[in-house]
Amino acid sequence: MPSASVSSTFPAGTILGYPRIGRRRELKKAVEAFWSGAIDAAALEAVAAGLRQQTRDRLVDLGLGRTDSSIPESFSYYDQVLDTIVAVGAIPGRFTSLVAADGTLDLAGYFTLARGEGENLPLEMTKWFDSNYHYLVPEIGPETVFSLASDRIVREFLEAKAAGFLTRPVLVGPVTFLLLSKASDGAPAGFSPLSRLDDLLPVYAALLARLKDAGADWVQLDEPGLVSESIDVPRAETLAAVASVYGLLGRLTVRPALFVAAPYGSLDDALPVLAATAVEAIGLDLVRGTLPQAVPGLAGKTLVAGVIDGHNIWRGDLAGAYETAESVRGLSPSVAVSTSTSLLHVPHDVLDETSLPGSLASWLAFADQKVGQVATLAQGLVKGRAAIAGSLADAAAALAARHSAPGVRDGVVRHRAAALTDADFSRGAYADRLSAQDTALQLPPLPTTTIGSFPQTGDIRRTRAQFLKGTIAADEYRSLMRAEIRRVVALQEEIGLDVLVHGEPERNDMVQYFAENLDGFAVTENGWVQSYGSRCTRPSILWGDVARPAPITVDWSVYTQSLTAKPVKGMLTGPVTILAWSFVRDDQPLGETARQVALALRDEIVDLEAAGIKIVQVDEPALRELLPLKKKDHADYLDWSVGSFRLATAGVADATQIHTHLCYSEFGVVIEAIRNLDADVTSIEAARSRMEVVQEIEAGGFDHGIGAGIYDIHSPRVPSIEELTTLLDTALESIPERQVWVNPDCGLKTRGYEETVQSLQNMLAATRLVRERL
Ligand code: GLN
Ligand code: ZN
Repeated sequence: MPSASVSSTFPAGTILGYPRIGRRRELKKAVEAFWSGAIDAAALEAVAAGLRQQTRDRLVDLGLGRTDSSIPESFSYYDQVLDTIVAVGAIPGRFTSLVAADGTLDLAGYFTLARGEGENLPLEMTKWFDSNYHYLVPEIGPETVFSLASDRIVREFLEAKAAGFLTRPVLVGPVTFLLLSKASDGAPAGFSPLSRLDDLLPVYAALLARLKDAGADWVQLDEPGLVSESIDVPRAETLAAVASVYGLLGRLTVRPALFVAAPYGSLDDALPVLAATAVEAIGLDLVRGTLPQAVPGLAGKTLVAGVIDGHNIWRGDLAGAYETAESVRGLSPSVAVSTSTSLLHVPHDVLDETSLPGSLASWLAFADQKVGQVATLAQGLVKGRAAIAGSLADAAAALAARHSAPGVRDGVVRHRAAALTDADFSRGAYADRLSAQDTALQLPPLPTTTIGSFPQTGDIRRTRAQFLKGTIAADEYRSLMRAEIRRVVALQEEIGLDVLVHGEPERNDMVQYFAENLDGFAVTENGWVQSYGSRCTRPSILWGDVARPAPITVDWSVYTQSLTAKPVKGMLTGPVTILAWSFVRDDQPLGETARQVALALRDEIVDLEAAGIKIVQVDEPALRELLPLKKKDHADYLDWSVGSFRLATAGVADATQIHTHLCYSEFGVVIEAIRNLDADVTSIEAARSRMEVVQEIEAGGFDHGIGAGIYDIHSPRVPSIEELTTLLDTALESIPERQVWVNPDCGLKTRGYEETVQSLQNMLAATRLVRERL
């Protein structure tokens, strides 16, 4: 039973969160200036406070209420999970020296958890649900002592209050926090962070009391952990945790009203559990999830209908969203509208784009436009559909125009995709390919190669930027890039690598480069979204049917091959990764879009082959990350994702060798899919995981080549010859020598030359030592 002091009027419209990096990446710049020592903590705090105030003002201008708790207080200097770690005092043991006597951590200490210091490795980082945002992984053990160690969220609420706003503080909910945690290093085997729930809850209770005292009417607790089935905790334990947490927090007498948000999918069996507790409002993701059935208790909650897609950039079907929100009234008389997720995943403002092609801009809604959409729908809920009929009609007209706009549907592309048969997805038998490739390539045992990029020096970036600005002409650009390629080829020959690459100097980014060269994509000027910490990416917008107007990489590869007698490996990004790191169209299944991208890449690969390139690598580092959160969706996803890779790569002769690269080593449920890619060589991370994955992949009787990524490029450290030899020996203990390739575990573009050359030299020295013993 909610206590009498709990206010329960939820605003008619809200958003779950707003981008925090700033319209011009002001926060990124200030944080990086702080790291470099150019500004002090007070200066950084001033920039952050300014951004928070701008956000509040902006949200009111866009139609949210100033004093009705509709503005979420969702700022973070780096990451919201890190904020929670710090708020509940769960600082891992190796960082305790950063903690002051009163238990607090200053800003420098906060960033140290994220970035590491000396021997102290940073917290691990991993993907936030099925988004491209990365959070820091809490480390929880029996030794973790929870305490309310930071009141930053309270201070930010008071800062807003002093400026005349009544905002809604946002916290990561306790269940999700523990579900996302890993056991600390010292924890006994089998330890589950969720077992610490009872100790964590008093800290949340104390924080809620502080917020109530400060004047907060509502608090938002984000619980996306409840929608995901890809978390290694038995579902029954998760549901029991929900019942106990929200049972307990609900019974507190001094607290704000509780709004539990469940973005990224449907709550399924967690909904009745939550509905049976005393929380006042429940947020439903009705973009990714579907309208639930009525369950006991639900009619007494405010249901916050997440009908505006927080995860993608389309203006979409506003009337449909309105109808969905209306239909929620069948479940509860109290309904509000919101975004399906935080707007963290989309850029700030379409109006900041000046060079989008055609009428693309009118089909889009970035964060600010989505806030406007929420405000419109909220008005409709309050005043009736007629009050917003004009806005609904405008959105419908834009959507209709989008459907019939040139380029959205291309007859040639569609005809080709429709005519595909099974044969287009399969290459010849592996045994035949193997012997044809052995004859064509004549490689030594344990062939050595790299993953594609070489260090991107300041010179390279400058040349690309000058070309983009038009200050250097196309032929000068080409000759400068060719000079770079010559250097990289000479270096690889000197080091003694067997399969060479051109080094990718012409690519700003492995996805954007292809997006810029394919029909159906647009790139933005200011469309930055936070990837992690101060890192932002500018995803391309895949808006139309995809086709390749002209060969993209062929000239660069052919030039490179002309410089050396060794085989040069062509380098492409795979269809799944191109989709995963772009904003994708929402008007057809992803698998259909993937097929179009695959066909464009297939043409590129066939052209590379015809031009004399004998090896082509198709990178798919995003294969694992696009895996849906619900198990029922896995089979369909794996079918189209693996299919699109196969379609892209099956157009070549047996003698042409196809490689793929996956940055990571924890394949989990996608391991069979990786075998099904049927790449002749699959390169994976193997240095940090000490080769375990190599054994795992081979355990299924996989007889294709495996590129063991033995040099960890994620650190500037130069691995020793001994260390690399040991790793290779480990590989050879579990896989036949015929299958083993030797390579770094990812591209070298973020490394410096000095450590790169030394590391590659050591990699070759280790390979030679091991070869001698074969
Ligand atoms: N070929 C790309 C490179 O070497 C691969 C990058 C990646 O896997 N993330 O940079
Ligand atoms: Zn990689």
